[in-house]
Amino acid sequence: MKLWQDKVRKVVPYTPGEQPNRPSMIKLNTNENPYPPAPGVRSLLDHFDEDRLRLYPDPACRNLNQTLADYYHVSEDMVFTGVGSDDVLSVAFLTFFNSDKPIFFPDITYSFYPVWADVYRIPYETKPVDENFRIVKEDYFGGSGGIVFPNPNAPTSYYENLSFVEDIVKNNPDVVVVVDEAYIDFAGPSAIELIPEYDNLLVVQTFSKSRSMAGMRIGYAIGQPALIKAMNDVKYSINSYTMNQTSLVLGVEAVKDEAYFKQCVEKIKATRSWTANELRKLGFKFNEPGANFIFASHPDYKASDLFAALREKDIYVRYFSLPRIDNYLRITIGTDEQMQTLIEFLKNYMK
Ligand SMILES: *Cc1c(COP(=O)(O)O)cnc(C)c1O
Repeated sequence: MKLWQDKVRKVVPYTPGEQPNRPSMIKLNTNENPYPPAPGVRSLLDHFDEDRLRLYPDPACRNLNQTLADYYHVSEDMVFTGVGSDDVLSVAFLTFFNSDKPIFFPDITYSFYPVWADVYRIPYETKPVDENFRIVKEDYFGGSGGIVFPNPNAPTSYYENLSFVEDIVKNNPDVVVVVDEAYIDFAGPSAIELIPEYDNLLVVQTFSKSRSMAGMRIGYAIGQPALIKAMNDVKYSINSYTMNQTSLVLGVEAVKDEAYFKQCVEKIKATRSWTANELRKLGFKFNEPGANFIFASHPDYKASDLFAALREKDIYVRYFSLPRIDNYLRITIGTDEQMQTLIEFLKNYMK
């Protein structure tokens, strides 16, 4: 062993879902949107002036931030954008979680949280979700160095209402509470409406799921100006030009087309109801899904077997070999056709 190896920062990295790319496959494993981005994005790409690429992008992301600010009826200094919400969350961890006390998050949740905590050497404590996979809000009332949880939670798909979120924020006036709303557009009201009342609340969202732009890498946080300024100070201490020219331009275009956005979200919600109904008929058990995925288990079939059998047929869903959830499949809602193929396969398999 070389001496330098001793000094290497050692981390167990996050494992992203597989990204195979075969035209014939049905990809329901990373919660992407099955529909293309807004039509305006297509035409902007067609007319994109490549001379723009010669220049650095606007480090303050003003146009994109202003567009998001207008959309959510907040001021521009209340918006922070980053390279997907993973980047935004990572900056939030680095900026706000600097206590000797552990940060709290659920035991069943987005598996990136413990990874960021480890890489930034932030102590953390997980709080078990209950037997129905619901977050127990009282577990978060005080004693932490900060709080982060997704709403709807992933991979459980459980959405908690605003008064639930508010109770957690209200009971933690001395630490920052980060609500990761990657799937909020498929669920209910966003905690953004609580921001005027709470200076310790940061809401994080993404273009990757409801806005069909996972490949573009755009995420954002909304919070009171002091929180956003603190995040910008950290960002400008690492890399000022995080957002590339194309993301900045195409992101604005995607937000502008609200009609298309709503239409896609409604289609996915309708397909989700149909799929949930069919899965129930087949005997699957799951909570009312709040996100663009269903987290289901079957009393008579092992999830790992179902996962392998589906994969054999080029139907990819997500399986986590983790405590408490190793008999569940996380199934992204795709198009009607894709979900029909999935259900047909399961019907035959279970005959
Ligand atoms: C998908 C996801 C993210 C990250 O999304 P980006 O593509 O980085 O914007 C963050 N949190 C949760 C809970 C997610 O499921």
